[in-house]
Amino acid sequence: MKAFTSRFRLGTPSAHSQVNNEQDNDFSASRASNIIEFRVHDDLSPQKHPVGSFDHDLASGKYKKQWNCWRDFETWLAAEQESHALEFRLVNTYTGSSLYTRQLRYVCSRAGTGGQKEYNKLHPDWNRKRGPKRTDCKCTLIVKQYPDTSMVLGNYSDIHNHDLGNANLPFTQIPKATREYIAGLLRLKVAPEHILKMLHRGVYDHDELFTQDLDENYVASCMEFIELRDIRRIEKEIEAEAIRLHPDDGQSTTLWVQRLRDKGHLLAFKSKTDPVPPGSNLAHNLFLLVIQTNWQRQIFAKYGDKLVCIDATHNVTMYENLNLTTLVVRDKWGHGVPVSWMLASNGPKETITYFLKANQLQSPATIPRRIISDLNWAQIHSCINVYNTIILLCWWHVLHAWQQHFSIPTYPELWALLKNWIRITNQVEFDATWIKIKSMAPPGFIEYLERYWMPEHVVRMWSAVFRTGRSILEDCDTNMLIEAWHGVLKGKFLYGKRNHRLDHLINTLLNHVLPYYALKQRRQDLGFEGPDLELKKRQDVLCRSQVYTKSDIIQVEGSDSKYLVQSKSNPSQVYEVDIKTYTCTCLDYPLISFCKHICAVQRLFDEPGTPPDGVQTCPNVSSLPSPPSLAQPSAGNIPEGFSGPKPHALIVIAEKLERLASRLRRPQKKDETTPALAILEDALDEMLLATETSSVLPAAQHLAPAVNARSVMMPGIKTKRTRAGDKAYGAGASSGSKAKKGD
Ligand SMILES: [Zn+2]
Ligand SMILES: [Zn+2]
Repeated sequence: MKAFTSRFRLGTPSAHSQVNNEQDNDFSASRASNIIEFRVHDDLSPQKHPVGSFDHDLASGKYKKQWNCWRDFETWLAAEQESHALEFRLVNTYTGSSLYTRQLRYVCSRAGTGGQKEYNKLHPDWNRKRGPKRTDCKCTLIVKQYPDTSMVLGNYSDIHNHDLGNANLPFTQIPKATREYIAGLLRLKVAPEHILKMLHRGVYDHDELFTQDLDENYVASCMEFIELRDIRRIEKEIEAEAIRLHPDDGQSTTLWVQRLRDKGHLLAFKSKTDPVPPGSNLAHNLFLLVIQTNWQRQIFAKYGDKLVCIDATHNVTMYENLNLTTLVVRDKWGHGVPVSWMLASNGPKETITYFLKANQLQSPATIPRRIISDLNWAQIHSCINVYNTIILLCWWHVLHAWQQHFSIPTYPELWALLKNWIRITNQVEFDATWIKIKSMAPPGFIEYLERYWMPEHVVRMWSAVFRTGRSILEDCDTNMLIEAWHGVLKGKFLYGKRNHRLDHLINTLLNHVLPYYALKQRRQDLGFEGPDLELKKRQDVLCRSQVYTKSDIIQVEGSDSKYLVQSKSNPSQVYEVDIKTYTCTCLDYPLISFCKHICAVQRLFDEPGTPPDGVQTCPNVSSLPSPPSLAQPSAGNIPEGFSGPKPHALIVIAEKLERLASRLRRPQKKDETTPALAILEDALDEMLLATETSSVLPAAQHLAPAVNARSVMMPGIKTKRTRAGDKAYGAGASSGSKAKKGD
């Protein structure tokens, strides 16, 4: 006789409803009644059941606990642990028998693990805060599940050799379900402080504070004792999962390098022990890593042929002298975008040259016309060698260097003159000012200027005389873009910490920095940030040209296309506009190949204005030639058809659950439970059971035997903090913005 031949559904009446006839759809009622004491069957069959089968166990009298289903058991288990502040540990799971599907053995957590000690205590005499956890408690709970019934039987010997209740709390751990819950919230990026508040459930809120402690019978929940550091520990583990690919930073970096290589984001890599690439002249103990993602390559192709800034910064990792050198391009809105990175343990000419060559090899068609640098000859020579480019010295750095060599309070006029001198665009005026400077500056300073700043090839790098004729996209005189980038990286993304592991920095660059810049680019491209520099300038030109009248303009005799336009700011100045070639001799013209003089001539003389090269004559937004980026959105910038990638079906469900969770959490007016919620809970329990093996918690890290790759392949670790701003010029230990605040 087989008593139960088919599994019965949750919540439906069954053969066992005589034992638990209160089973119905009322959830609160079933909760209270699912602890069922066993009664011996009256109609016990004389037939012998096989040992281990449901009927045998039922008849044996050992299994005094019964639950209708696994869920009921779990509910009971949670309540049992909570009400006595005890903790069960699952020690054994048997499966595979045809008579039962699973047998689980739980013991009290104070039974001890019985394993061998893996180490000897360093300080055996030190006192512990709490007494020993292990009391060899003999409490056990054996639970069985069977193939033909959803009923669960339990053999529970609940005698403990230690106090239960609050006295046992210090010896319990955070339950797995709670840790999973914490991990889930952390993955949603909920702030740890907020998670802590949710777990405490108001226990430490002002009104309730300590009222429970007055009640002797109150058994506290272990949730009430969770600290922020418990959550932070899980946070760290989750971080480790995606970032710390190995506990050893060296091996983790190797794994990162492999990932970069697989995705085509790696331009060059050399560890301290790798051989020197032939012909590179790199130092043999150099550590070098060059990263450029596909997206960065596209941005470099888009903007890199005009103006590029280059500079290095310290203190982004825990390694001594490991600098981050960045190439930053200037986009159409005048903002900087980092397009290539080099991490290197030294920065002489050979290293920077290697970096630039790696970039050149990757994007041979993109040749920067101008590169902004500070006065770092290794950097300057490398740029000239590789790209044969025009070097612009950052004005801020030039003036900063000059002011170190005289006292501004003693020579205030000299300082004003120098600041003006650098901006003079006219050679004659420039020479005259130089003579004036020589007449008023201290001899030491004149000598310094003559020696370091006045040689022809150096003057070309800093004087505005050599900076005319640039388009608005190249109209940049300082290294501010790169200083801003360093500020963003250190302040926003590295939280001001100076000793990150290298894997952490790589992850930050790829997974935090680049998405931030990609979002900025897309917003700009789609018009969220208003008109770009060219468009803004056009609108400005259109507006300013309105002040010109016919009396300001004379047509050149004998020419049908040339006009002379008198300057409004300087009446002695006259500019020549040729409407046929669409040019003007004013300084503003090269910025966007258009100026207020051309615009005025067109308006007042009704010139059709046929600019060469399709340059638009009328500064009308809608008729402006659309840049290629808008007409043909590049794959990396705008997804096809403006619809993002289809999210995975599981993600869709997860998002729905999260939305529902946030609704369930909001303060309820009355008991809003609906039958649908009960069905949902059933389904959720089933799903939770079915997905138990897919761990939300990060996997435990197993340390490999002591192969310390870090010390072998990485640069040395920083020993002491370098003082910020102690170097007189250029690359000090602090970021540019900090250095500026300091002066
Ligand atoms: Zn115990
Ligand atoms: Zn003009």
